[in-house]
Amino acid sequence: MKTEDVKLIDAKGIRLDGRKIDELRPIKIESGVLHRADGSCYLEWGGNKVFAAVYGPREAIPRHTQNPLRAIVNAKYNMAAFSVEDRKRPGPDRRSREISKVISEALEKVILTEQFPRSMIDVAIEVLDAEAGTRCAGLTAAGVALADAGIPMIDIPVGCAAGKIGGKVVLDLGKEEDNFGDADVPLGISPRTGEIILLQMDGHLTFDEFNTALDYAIEGCNKVSKLQKEALLRKYDTIKEGK
Ligand code: UDP
Repeated sequence: MKTEDVKLIDAKGIRLDGRKIDELRPIKIESGVLHRADGSCYLEWGGNKVFAAVYGPREAIPRHTQNPLRAIVNAKYNMAAFSVEDRKRPGPDRRSREISKVISEALEKVILTEQFPRSMIDVAIEVLDAEAGTRCAGLTAAGVALADAGIPMIDIPVGCAAGKIGGKVVLDLGKEEDNFGDADVPLGISPRTGEIILLQMDGHLTFDEFNTALDYAIEGCNKVSKLQKEALLRKYDTIKEGK
């Protein structure tokens, strides 16, 4: 099938899955789901299913990785072999290394790393089902897991992508939109300050389109941020009520 054969959006601005241009896929977030980890999160975002688990802060090993002034943040993004249509070869590849790096750097911007010199904070992100937007889903899940672990942060980081399909800028690309669309702009922010902590772009956008995509993605991040906080409060209420 050729890219131009796929009609991703109709004349009324309705997308293949029935969403409007500025509508998110359904999102479900649960915090504190894994009992061996210091903090954890399970997140469903459209067809994505993602776990995040936090370990630490603990002494950084091997010792030569230690920074005497701050903690190092080690996010590891992994996609399960069964998470995609064509079985993915297990283990790290270029893509997962890139995503691990950009998520680690995003998390370092919000965690108060200087409070934990010589330490490491591990964040495992496991994608069980992938349907586009997994790096944003991974960052969002990591944010909840870090808060659940009680790691001090300036804010709970959150991610959401926008992009362009059939000549229109839209929020939160789905699988076909990612495959056959014109551009994808994953964004991560610290919602309280609005600081951008992750920004990538795949495809081509004009300057105006890019600005619109950024506005959509920020709006999306703010909506997802509310869901993160609700998930954390739900767990807190459950503990308070002794359930
Ligand atoms: N994908 C896949 N096989 C791979 C890598 C990705 O089928 O080896 C799919 C998967 O559904 C993923 C989507 O392509 O969510 C988009 O991948 P991209 O690299 O754009 O990252 P993402 O949008 O997931 O952050």
